Amino acid sequence: MPAIAPANRIHPLCYEHHSEMTVRELSSSENGVAYDCKEPHCFVSYSRSDGYFLNTQNQFIIKRCPIPPHQYCAHDRYPMYLLEVQPEHPNFRLWRCPHCSMSRLGGQLT
Ligand SMILES: [Zn+2]
Ligand SMILES: [Zn+2]
Repeated sequence: MPAIAPANRIHPLCYEHHSEMTVRELSSSENGVAYDCKEPHCFVSYSRSDGYFLNTQNQFIIKRCPIPPHQYCAHDRYPMYLLEVQPEHPNFRLWRCPHCSMSRLGGQLT
């Protein structure tokens, strides 16, 4: 496995399934990478430039699914990704900026 700089290696979680998403190369640029949920029938995707979005043109599916959460970094306004959830704390959300790696806590631990 080639070593990849930590700043370039992110592991977004699907906000629906809380499972790690798989990388999909769009182009050779740094922003040309999207992440897809690997669960069947899940359209949740994430890219550094757009944040979370639903990877479908099907309006029926888009209307049926919850609106993708959008957390923006207070520092550089990049869309943040879901870094960590804790099953024992359903409201707990740890978000991270893919650009400056700043973290933000959402929800409560109770
Ligand atoms: Zn999913
Ligand atoms: Zn940032």
